[in-house]
Amino acid sequence: MENALAVLRVNAGRFRTRFDALSAIGATPDGGLDRPAFSIAHRLARGWYFEQAEQAGLEIRVDGAGNHSALLRCGPAGGPTLLLGSHLDSVPNGGRFDGALGVVAALEVLQVVKEAGFSLGAHLEAVDLTDEEGHFANFLGSLGMTGMLDAGHIENPRGGRERFRRALEDAGMDEGTLLSAGRDPRSLAGYLELHIEQGPRLAEHGDDIGIVTNIVGIRSFKIRFLGRADHAGTTPMDRRLDATLGASAFSLAVRERVMSEYPRAVATVGNMVFEPGVFNVVPRSVVLSMEFRAEDETALDAMETELMRLARAEAGRFGLGLDVQMLDSSPPASMNAGVQEAIGEAAEMLGLRYTFLHSGAGHDAQCLAPICPTGMIFVPSVSGFSHSAKELTSWQDCVNGANTLLQAALLLAR
Ligand SMILES: [Zn+2]
Repeated sequence: MENALAVLRVNAGRFRTRFDALSAIGATPDGGLDRPAFSIAHRLARGWYFEQAEQAGLEIRVDGAGNHSALLRCGPAGGPTLLLGSHLDSVPNGGRFDGALGVVAALEVLQVVKEAGFSLGAHLEAVDLTDEEGHFANFLGSLGMTGMLDAGHIENPRGGRERFRRALEDAGMDEGTLLSAGRDPRSLAGYLELHIEQGPRLAEHGDDIGIVTNIVGIRSFKIRFLGRADHAGTTPMDRRLDATLGASAFSLAVRERVMSEYPRAVATVGNMVFEPGVFNVVPRSVVLSMEFRAEDETALDAMETELMRLARAEAGRFGLGLDVQMLDSSPPASMNAGVQEAIGEAAEMLGLRYTFLHSGAGHDAQCLAPICPTGMIFVPSVSGFSHSAKELTSWQDCVNGANTLLQAALLLAR
């Protein structure tokens, strides 16, 4: 039995045919993909997914959070379910691999196990999770599935409440179903996700497989530097309270400090809004949007203290007032040690070169991690490009990832 399982491989031709067919749904002329959650393309992709699942002889199911699942009852009656999955939605003008690869691979794994006719210690479920990219709200489907989605998370959806309400209605859902879609953690054997790395590390080091150790935590802030509006022609430069100077000096200081003190972390100033924002007035205020990401709470806390100190110092240097508002904080998530071990064992068995790395991007896995043993498998992204039409993973890497997903799932569902 052990040996019979170990020789199973995905059907690479069928996997490719499906991946290409899916890539055509919402395709953009530049080779990318435009398939935001609840869009027409997204709905078509989900319909296509269910057709494929049914053709493969799998059961299908939609939960209250709109998650689309294909099921293979290969475990004991009343036994737990091992979830394999990712997401079929994309960012606007995104790439073909982000999310889609993991869903098509999960479906392929179920079909291979079904065809082999094996019984396992757990049932298998290939799930397409709703709105991972946060078209309305980040991780809507995976948070719904954990039962940890609270009303506050969907109170101010991006794109507005009315559009959100209509999108849910069109999909046969409402806020009530979303908030009651939680699964019993005891019914879950774990969650395993294959995904592209979306960064350059694996490709640069010539590794085939990345085993994710943890997913970064993110904190985001609005920081307002407050000066005084003055005539841009008549006010001598040494007498100005120019909000631009504090905001600019702070941005440069953030880069320098994070690179020297927190080399594994990143910080980004993504926006600055100037007031009044015209050529001939010294800016009275600049509101800067900043986020930073690190692997653990200790580093996040230390960075927050340090960066806020820098903001105060730069504001003081230019005689400016300062107002800081924290917008959002998502905690870092550790991947399960046993799942990491299974992925390593699978990669080794397949003769693949693997390494351990953290994820700088958020994923549904961070939502599932608190309720069941969770892990992620990364495959290389050519030049690290992602969330654009340039997103690319070599087909061999996709197949390697799918076989690692298959073998790791078999180890976990043994
Ligand atoms: Zn993704």
